[in-house]
Amino acid sequence: DPRLKAISDALSVVPNFPKPGIMFQDITTLVSNHKVFKHTVDIFVDRYRDMGISVVAGVEARGFIFAPPIALAIGAKFIPLRKPGKLPGSIQMQPKSQFYQVDEIMNLCCPGEVISEAYELEYGNDCLEMHVGAVEQGERALIIDDLVATGGTLSAAIRLLEREGAEVVECACVIGLPEVKGRRLLDGKPLYVLVEPR
Ligand code: 5GP
Repeated sequence: DPRLKAISDALSVVPNFPKPGIMFQDITTLVSNHKVFKHTVDIFVDRYRDMGISVVAGVEARGFIFAPPIALAIGAKFIPLRKPGKLPGSIQMQPKSQFYQVDEIMNLCCPGEVISEAYELEYGNDCLEMHVGAVEQGERALIIDDLVATGGTLSAAIRLLEREGAEVVECACVIGLPEVKGRRLLDGKPLYVLVEPR
């Protein structure tokens, strides 16, 4: 598919970001190219439009760029899988909260129950959160992120959706590290990636 070469060519690599020694795969140059961004979305839409998917879950932050256009095109809902404390309902009390009235706090906290799944990073841990009630029992879900490296992030996303009763049909990313690109499965779920890092 010649579109895959265009997608690969539109990526850029930023050395030493966010830390020395890391070659960061940058998708901003891809999405600022209208034609190539459209190719990227089109490839996913062609693959998923007839798979009975009713939920497209995007992983914060760059999964939020690709998941909504795919969801709109295939007629599915978009749900955000967010970093800790970002989803309404999961607020952490900040110092200024001491000035909130009790009824304001009640309004801030309800509804919006969230569930969390931790995952390991190269150094330390992180966590993804999802709203309880974001999916219904048995809904067929697609998980979207920009890049898969170890698969830890996508594994946490799979666990969140499955805890709420969704069926994860596939995980899909624009970029897959070579080790993972060869893998067809991630925690037993199909994994689909378009290109390898540049
Ligand atoms: P994993 O959990 O598979 O090891 O890492 C994947 C997560 O890290 C994704 O959410 C992805 O956005 C982020 N990530 C790690 N390295 C890069 C990179 O070089 N470029 C981009 N765009 N994202 C990265």
